[in-house]
Amino acid sequence: MTYVPSKDRYEKMTYRRCGNSGLLLPEISLGLWHNFGHVDVYENCREMLQYAFDQGITHFDLANNYGPPPGSAEENFGKIMNQDFASLRDEMIISSKAGYTMWDGPYGDWGSRKYIIASCDQSLKRMGLEYVDIFYTHRPDPNTPVEETALALDQLVKQGKALYVGISNYKPDQTEAIEAIFRELKTPFIIHQPRYSMFDRWVEDGLLDTLKKLGKGSIVFSPLAQGMLTDRYLDGIPKDSRAAKDSGHLQQDAVTEEKIEKVRKLKVIAEERNQSISQLAVAWLLRHDVVTSVLLGASSVRQLEQNLIALENTSFTEDELDRIESILK
Ligand code: NDP
Repeated sequence: MTYVPSKDRYEKMTYRRCGNSGLLLPEISLGLWHNFGHVDVYENCREMLQYAFDQGITHFDLANNYGPPPGSAEENFGKIMNQDFASLRDEMIISSKAGYTMWDGPYGDWGSRKYIIASCDQSLKRMGLEYVDIFYTHRPDPNTPVEETALALDQLVKQGKALYVGISNYKPDQTEAIEAIFRELKTPFIIHQPRYSMFDRWVEDGLLDTLKKLGKGSIVFSPLAQGMLTDRYLDGIPKDSRAAKDSGHLQQDAVTEEKIEKVRKLKVIAEERNQSISQLAVAWLLRHDVVTSVLLGASSVRQLEQNLIALENTSFTEDELDRIESILK
């Protein structure tokens, strides 16, 4: 069946400006780290992408190594682009990254010019795209001069392979260092992608302030702590959950009773707000204006549908914030 996107999709979503740039991103974006590889059900991937786009989610986040096997999320995404979204490319923001192990030998990892340029070429080929909207350095490389990584990203922009560049997992001082180089080069560096959730708040210790000062946006990953900030694990570890799957990056022993007890307490506040736990967790992240977008993962349309309801109530009273704070402490 030919996919026809929902006509009112742009009325359903709010778009936030990414730092001081010209780019607007949806408050919720969809990431393809899990559930989009060759090990997954292709039709389910397709349904999730169509559903997301119908809800005004214009931004899809990938990386060279997403799968499994590595590369297969980009391959599936490329196939679905070709099948369903070929005429919609200009309505979409597609990102990819290089920085973690992708191929054997000394040139398939980290932040050298050699790896970044080759990896971006491979990603474009797998996705069947001429360019990505955002290309990221996936993590800082302690052994490559930061100028080299920055110049490689700048070259991708000059070659027309990326429109904007981003950085991921860079600490505040590393962010300032690479930003200074991008500024000199006039590279369109607009966004940082850090992990941020109620269970992982490292960005509050300087990074959000740094991004605000520099006029950069952010898109925060694993906002549900890979599923722990939902009702998924309240009664043990379900067989079809990320923590139970061999290919999942959430270790079973990370799902501790201490965390689940916090989730139970958060549920009480969520219910008073007429929200689910995941909706509360998403809304809580969007309270910062320096958070441009919350980058969700999903294994079904149903999860996406539930989580998008978060956008109906993203404001908090001081009392709610204090109570959340005391639970998280
Ligand atoms: P989340 O924290 O949103 O976790 C998503 C998982 O939570 C789903 O796959 C699902 O797991 C579960 N879930 C979601 N909604 C519900 C719900 N309503 N009820 C019950 N369970 C739910 O994000 P991810 O960890 O998936 O990360 C999101 C994206 O961030 C990635 O796809 C990737 O694009 C990016 N990322 C970037 C990184 C980087 O270094 N830059 C690193 C990691 C991620 P289940 O399978 O159990 O159903």
